Amino acid sequence: MNSTCPYCGVGCGVKVMPKPSGAYQVAGDAQHPSSLGRLCVKGAALGETLGHQGRLLHPQVNGQRVSWDEALQQVASDLQQIINKHGAQAVAFYASGQLLTEDYYAANKLMKGFIGVGNIDTNSRLCMASAVVGYKRAFGADAMPCCYDDFAHCGLVILVGSNAAWAHPVAYQRLVQAKKQRPDMQVVVIDPRRTATCDLADLHLPLRPGSDAALFNGLLHWLSQHQAIDHSMLPQLDGVEAALAAAQPWSSQAVADFCQLERAQVEDFYQRVVASDTLLTLYCMGINQSSSGSDKCNAIINVHLLSGKIGRAGCGPFSLTGQPNAMGGREVGGLANQLAAHMDFTPENIDRMQRFWHSEQVARQPGLKAVELFQAIERGDVKAVWIMGTNPAVSLPDGHRVVAALARCEKVIVSEVSQHTDTTAYADILLPAQGWGEKNGTVTNSERRISRQRSFVAAAGEAQPDWWIIAEVAKRMGFAAAFNWQHPAEIFREHAALSGFENQGRRAFDISGLAQLTNAQWDALQPLQWPVNAQYPQGCARLFSERKFFHANGKARLLAITPRLPVAQVSAGWPLMMNTGRIRDQWHTMTRTGSVPRLMQHLSEPFVEIHPQDAQQHQIGEGDLVRVQSASGWLVVRAQLSAGQQRGTVFVPMHWTRQFAAQANADMLVAPHLCPESGQPESKQTPVRLRRW
Ligand code: SF4
Repeated sequence: MNSTCPYCGVGCGVKVMPKPSGAYQVAGDAQHPSSLGRLCVKGAALGETLGHQGRLLHPQVNGQRVSWDEALQQVASDLQQIINKHGAQAVAFYASGQLLTEDYYAANKLMKGFIGVGNIDTNSRLCMASAVVGYKRAFGADAMPCCYDDFAHCGLVILVGSNAAWAHPVAYQRLVQAKKQRPDMQVVVIDPRRTATCDLADLHLPLRPGSDAALFNGLLHWLSQHQAIDHSMLPQLDGVEAALAAAQPWSSQAVADFCQLERAQVEDFYQRVVASDTLLTLYCMGINQSSSGSDKCNAIINVHLLSGKIGRAGCGPFSLTGQPNAMGGREVGGLANQLAAHMDFTPENIDRMQRFWHSEQVARQPGLKAVELFQAIERGDVKAVWIMGTNPAVSLPDGHRVVAALARCEKVIVSEVSQHTDTTAYADILLPAQGWGEKNGTVTNSERRISRQRSFVAAAGEAQPDWWIIAEVAKRMGFAAAFNWQHPAEIFREHAALSGFENQGRRAFDISGLAQLTNAQWDALQPLQWPVNAQYPQGCARLFSERKFFHANGKARLLAITPRLPVAQVSAGWPLMMNTGRIRDQWHTMTRTGSVPRLMQHLSEPFVEIHPQDAQQHQIGEGDLVRVQSASGWLVVRAQLSAGQQRGTVFVPMHWTRQFAAQANADMLVAPHLCPESGQPESKQTPVRLRRW
């Protein structure tokens, strides 16, 4: 049986083979074009995560086991009562990049199409919302142009704000392979920390945290000063003059001063870019999770547009997605500021959705984005929230306030795989959802590739697919005709048909070529990259090869970027800047990976990484317990001293929750400083102080 790894956005193909013992062996699928048979240690251990330990097995209302019918009826009547009393704005869904596309489609359709408000957002808001804004502003569509095969054709790869060696290991392995085959391929890593990814770097730029936009503005200016503009591209670009004017003050010396680098390092980087005919920029949370994340994305895209390094092999701005189906969520309208199929909230699109869904109730305006949504719960404006497949009590910034919001919320409904999470503790209604290996649907990975996740084991207890749970609630709310699906393939066909509905090349996301799949064809669907339509019946590896973009005039846009540093800066009281991130062998809040002993061996407990001189200054030794305090919260973890950590900064992994350690949740320390365009929080830069515990 072929399926897809449920962890990160690399989206590796797996082969699942039953063992005589009844357990399952998971190996890489050599035929999957995204991973070519590779798996990282997390993916390889998937077979060890299939037990029922810790699973939520039965529906519960107020802590009591109930039948599915009772639970579904309770959800429907609770939502309806709150809508009747306070209006539809008083209910919200908070979904997850772990959901399958079919689940996500059903949730968005119920909220935006029939309850009739935009209040569905997703934990992908914390992951790639800034990248979405960057693409939409530049290209007129949320359209990531590249593919993993570009690694094999690229002369220069920039990794910025990405520790791919740990966070996207198989993508990193493909880079390692490319460098092995073509040792002249250059790799530049831009990151305040010296991470494992730097092992591959020809040049590491340990810039000041959050100063990336200045580095790329300086590069844009350098291109204009060193005859490195692609003049054939100019007729297809808007905004060039303004972007260059904004970049003009960023001489290499100005950049060096702002980014706290040596001028020679900056110029070395810029010269490498000019010298290479091809350029791929891989970027991730170090760019996106910022109060100016959207501008950072556009500063990167500006460089690709002006130098013509886009739309051909080995070229383009390539945002790596964190979750297995962050892309799928973007496609179906999982973000509160989009309808479905990449449609914005315009009168034409609202009318289009009304006709497609045969509903007069389609939301008229965007809903609340993740952080705002929980703030609205805290204020009492939102009175019912349905959380699906995610753990906001520990993953959102300012976690103490999120917990307080959940505690005061009138109705908290949680669809979950796990019985005990920090969020299920606040649930009035618990709905057991099927997990990986049980559920059946599609996901889209970082390179726009749609792959199948297939079911091969029986569901634990009474767990059901998320799409079924949502559809059954919708039926009980009076929307039976629109949610009468019997099989996930029916939902996929509807989703594919919507993508092509009155599209005529206006929207990048178009998989209308898959709208007629039979159930058997959907079941056997092979991985392929969207768009899939009459023009690209077999999918499309690279976008914009014809230099035609999705703004109304067909052009792409450069943006004038004014670099901004993080909102909160270090001070005498808060002298160190805390960064957060993943470690190699764990996934999110460890509900799955934390159950595998060998995955705990790499780094078995939470820690704070400190530069040895900073540690000495704070009288902290290797292995000491340390209290890390920010203005929002504190945690206690063990000190790890590392010269790879930039002085004045510390790093704390994001995975540990109360389930695994008493007081070690990094996001409790993060303040809700948001990018004004994307709503993505600044999870990477939090001023803190340390004290030996
Ligand atoms: Fe799974 Fe990501 Fe590892 Fe691939 S790289 S096996 S998708 S966790």
